[in-house]
Amino acid sequence: MPKSIGIDLGTTNSAAAIKKVHIEIIKNSEGDLITPSCLTVKKKKLAGLIKRQEFIVGKHALEWIKQDPVNTVTAVKRLMGRSFTNPEVQKIISGHRQFNTITCQSMGTENSLAILLHEKEYTPEQISSKILKKMHKDAEAFLHDAIEYAVITVPAYFNDKQKHATRTAASLAGLKVQRLLPEPTAAAISFGVDQVKNDEAKTIMVFDFGGGTFDLSVLTISGGQFIEQGKGGNMWLGGEDIDRKIEDFVLSETAREYDIGDIAQVIDHQENGVKNRFLGELTAAVEQAKINLSDQDEAYIELLGLLKDQDGDLLDVDVALTRKQFEEIIRPVVKNAMELTRKLLDDIHFTPDLIDNVLLVGGSSKIPCIIRAVKDIFGPDKVLVHERPMLAIAEGAAILSHRLSDTYECMGCGNTVSQSDIVCSKCGFDLEKHIIDQGVFDIVHSAAHDYYVVLENGDKYLFIEKNTPLPCERTEVFKLVHSDQQLVHIKFFNIVNDKYESIGDFWLDIDTEDVNDYRRDLSEEIRELPLSIEVTLKIDENNLVEVAASLRELPGVELTKTLSRGKADEKLFMALEDMINESNKNEYSTYTIDDMTTRIVSIIKDIHSVIDKKTGEIIEPIYNLVEMKIDKTKRLAEEGVNCYSLIYYAQSALQDFSKAFSSKNQSLMKKKIKHLKKMNLDGTYEENLDAYNDLDTFFDSFPIINILMDITSAGELCDEHEPSRSPKFYNAVSTIMEATLKENYELVESTLSEIQPEVKKVLQQYDSETGTIQKGITR
Ligand code: ADP
Ligand code: MG
Repeated sequence: MPKSIGIDLGTTNSAAAIKKVHIEIIKNSEGDLITPSCLTVKKKKLAGLIKRQEFIVGKHALEWIKQDPVNTVTAVKRLMGRSFTNPEVQKIISGHRQFNTITCQSMGTENSLAILLHEKEYTPEQISSKILKKMHKDAEAFLHDAIEYAVITVPAYFNDKQKHATRTAASLAGLKVQRLLPEPTAAAISFGVDQVKNDEAKTIMVFDFGGGTFDLSVLTISGGQFIEQGKGGNMWLGGEDIDRKIEDFVLSETAREYDIGDIAQVIDHQENGVKNRFLGELTAAVEQAKINLSDQDEAYIELLGLLKDQDGDLLDVDVALTRKQFEEIIRPVVKNAMELTRKLLDDIHFTPDLIDNVLLVGGSSKIPCIIRAVKDIFGPDKVLVHERPMLAIAEGAAILSHRLSDTYECMGCGNTVSQSDIVCSKCGFDLEKHIIDQGVFDIVHSAAHDYYVVLENGDKYLFIEKNTPLPCERTEVFKLVHSDQQLVHIKFFNIVNDKYESIGDFWLDIDTEDVNDYRRDLSEEIRELPLSIEVTLKIDENNLVEVAASLRELPGVELTKTLSRGKADEKLFMALEDMINESNKNEYSTYTIDDMTTRIVSIIKDIHSVIDKKTGEIIEPIYNLVEMKIDKTKRLAEEGVNCYSLIYYAQSALQDFSKAFSSKNQSLMKKKIKHLKKMNLDGTYEENLDAYNDLDTFFDSFPIINILMDITSAGELCDEHEPSRSPKFYNAVSTIMEATLKENYELVESTLSEIQPEVKKVLQQYDSETGTIQKGITR
């Protein structure tokens, strides 16, 4: 198998590593171990024409923040798999340091999200994919080898949609995902604490203090399985908060030195270029001072020759910061982090002594007073600080990636050996012993949440329970709510922190012909029973969900479809759902309901193909067609124009009364039916209506056939509801047909005058029946 790597796709920084004989951190094209998770888009103009957009990722992108913050994206991870309406996203949008324009995708629902860069929409997946692409490309250059696979880490709190988004980003970057690995698990692997003997268990807390986030996790490790006991922290607490505090300190020291009342105002009055440069350099200098203070007792922040006061005199920033002052300044941040740590223990009813090890990772856990504070809670021996805290997650990912590869390099000589080899054929190294000693096994994940479906009456049904070992698969049987039901709509969701979180919607169409074939020889009682549907929910090692369904009675009928997850398909399904709910209030005739159902079945098929399965892109012609079809279905139903009923009616007439049509009229009628069928599929509302009227008018020009059809319909309706009454109608039809052929018009007249009042009564009775479109499931 080609080489595989581990990637930490971080909020602030990303890193990649590979395990061969030892773990090696991959240097990027700038020669750094860490790549800032930052992207900028530049418009490249050639001869005044917009040639193309150029993407820059990493350190050089970060420099652009000062010049073009609107088209530079940082912390895109916070947006992954989230919808525009998500509270976290709204918080980002209203933030004072948020410069990008965040919107819904023009073709997605409110569940979608896009970032506008030079007026073009980008999804968070696309932006993350550019970051991954750089990591991938730089790794190939560094290793002088092709890389095809990667283990990519994700936060423990990522839900199905967020993980899907990550996987999409990887696939857009040309990487195959071996595993999406929760970051705390990656941390545990990199510390080697996952190597617990089979009959033992170990409970650890992973304390990940990064650039913008603070993630806490408590895990119990046993038999290769990681069981999540709880997670906590704060999505909005990290190294940046510390930087802000130092910045405030530096500015107030400078104001004091120059005796300035409001230094913020002085900065604000600088010309734009100077202001942006000053603020950018201040941020960089402050962060560097903070990093220096992790090893040194004093650091300096110097920004010379930039700021000027009203009189044009220079205001140089030249501030010294001791470690003691620093610790005083960041005391509130440290206090907050420790309170969150205690809160997590409380939430899961743990005490510090139940934790075997606390693992410190993330750049900010290098800060000595933070390490001390954690040791104060847990005792000094249990706290393990990673030697390279910003690289720990990538290292863990690299180790797992190595374990999951079919082949790897022998620890003894570097020769390529396969997972099934016991000793190296070249140097004789004992591979099996090494694997056992190192605990080189796959790890077992467990379901991150409870998984539910919604039933027709609104009840929720628990499908898979949290902490079920993964991968897992469960099949449940549900009943449809109606015997003639052609549509099924299943909503899947998690409950996360007591909140309903949609995983996706699942829409199925059932072919009536298949059902009729199956029911043909059944007794009436059984024929009336609603069908049952077997729904299978699969969760893979990455906590990603897949669903499949089949009809219990007709297992051969293929129903496997994908879940919609906030993209264009979801928008269309939501429009469809709205239309169904609306028409169910309108008391439409059963004919209209049947017509609509037939149209909806075809719409569902179209929606299932609106997204290109490989690229995830929207196929616009299909999207537009579906929008048009939904609108058309609504309008035709409102007008009571039942095209499919008319087709059925006309086809039956052709079949039953062919003798009454000249061959020319027969072929005209067939042509008109064919045209209406085509318009039903892809014609506009107007074209569809014209085709309907054309056939309807033509049909009306055969009054006797209309009368015969009405009598037949009355017979058919009685067949369904009162079979004893139907022979009378069929007999009348035969009598009239024969009498007409014999030109016995007297008999025709008398039969008609006898039967017509009754026909009218039957048709009125059943024509006035109303119905609703059914799509639910029950137990
Ligand atoms: P993330 O996981 O959010 O991408 P990282 O784990 O890469 O973040 O941590 C980045 C943060 O760590 C930044 O705020 C950076 O300033 C901080 N940091 C890095 N090295 C040190 C250090 N030696 N001392 C203190 N903070 C540091
Ligand atoms: Mg991180």
